[in-house]
Amino acid sequence: MTHTLPETADWVLTGAILITMDAQRRVLTDAALAVTGRKITWIGTTPEAAKIDAKERIDGRDKVVTPGFINTHVHITGDPLTRHFMPDDLNDADRLFTWVIPRYYAHTPEDEQLSALYCSLELLKGGTTTFLEAGTICHLDHAAEGVRQAGIRARIGGWVEGRAFDPTQDETALIEAAIKIMEDGVAAYPQTEEDLIAAWPIMVGHNTNPDAVWQAAKRIADDAGVGVAAHMSPYKADPDWYLEHVGKRPLVHLEDIGALGDNVTITHATHLDMDEVNAFARTGTNIAYCPFASLKGAFHVAKVGLYNEARAAGVNITFATDGYDCEILQAARIGIGIFKDLTGDVSPANVMDGLEAITINGAKALGLDHMIGSLEVGKEADILAFDTRNVQWRPLISPVDQLIFSADGRSLDSVWVAGEQRIKGGKPLHLDEEALIDQVQTASTAILERAGLPFKRSWPTP
Ligand SMILES: [Zn+2]
Repeated sequence: MTHTLPETADWVLTGAILITMDAQRRVLTDAALAVTGRKITWIGTTPEAAKIDAKERIDGRDKVVTPGFINTHVHITGDPLTRHFMPDDLNDADRLFTWVIPRYYAHTPEDEQLSALYCSLELLKGGTTTFLEAGTICHLDHAAEGVRQAGIRARIGGWVEGRAFDPTQDETALIEAAIKIMEDGVAAYPQTEEDLIAAWPIMVGHNTNPDAVWQAAKRIADDAGVGVAAHMSPYKADPDWYLEHVGKRPLVHLEDIGALGDNVTITHATHLDMDEVNAFARTGTNIAYCPFASLKGAFHVAKVGLYNEARAAGVNITFATDGYDCEILQAARIGIGIFKDLTGDVSPANVMDGLEAITINGAKALGLDHMIGSLEVGKEADILAFDTRNVQWRPLISPVDQLIFSADGRSLDSVWVAGEQRIKGGKPLHLDEEALIDQVQTASTAILERAGLPFKRSWPTP
């Protein structure tokens, strides 16, 4: 596709290898792109770019340039300031109720702002320019402010649980409170073309929300033109609970009550049966699969996952990092590895599938594929430039294979979000990284003390 050469541009980048992720999945050499404001205005060859009157020219030789990556499930609070501080060999109930939940509740609003900012910075440094939050933000305004300070694109939402498990709780009141959190969030952070941040109804999911909350989430999202996200079925416990209490498996039930759709993203979706796979396919519901989290959490993924069957049925599968790590390229390489392992041969997935899962598939899940997910004229300039004068990249032979199997944030030189450069030379331009490191160390100590955790460490520490 050719485009009219613009007379002027804010900046042009020349001499690069461009992995475009456009409809033809073109990889262009000695390529150039022009950006004005927040948009990509032209893509062509380096000699042609010499004719553009640009305010700034960026030398892209020795750079592999890609669209910004999209991470469809991240907990930006809770884990970032406590960083794996729990034994990794506890069963789920111990892990959640003794360690994970108390850490969240020990965060002050200011901690959540710092956590959101710090996690967003780590995401940017790993190449994520857009993320979907996981539904565990207690203080939405503070977290939103942290995300805004980082200059990353995000869809976020407040913590929503509407089911009464304790007979002393009033479920009607819990449902009303849950719906109010979703309505207030979407009203406070509406989705616009300009704003990097918008709020979605994001539920914790599993069995924590009764049907009324799921149905309200879908209605609120449909009315606002946004999406819904929730966890479901990382373990067999979710289908077991639904079969016992509802009489159907969770995804079949959610389809029956009208809670699924192409603006809904379900995280994990590991323990499915084929009826549920077909429910995803029939409704266009997206899957956010977190490969490393599924291994660390022992979901039994490589034994039971029906991801290849879901892909064959046309389900849009995206990759995400969950709460453990921010390296989305690691998710891509482990993700396709698991797709291969599930069948016992290497044919079900290749590097392009891995790259699609963290670019264009993520954009589709977020309803933003007209704006992000590929390097194309008219799209937002969410762009990464990897430094190929780095041991991860040499010898440079096959850029897409090397991106997925060899590269990570350590060779990421530059990151732009909506045309604005956020990372240069691997360092943030708008933030004081050293000061943030000091702040998170101090905040972390206070959070762990307030949480009253047993301080059971895997290793003796000084
Ligand atoms: Zn999660």
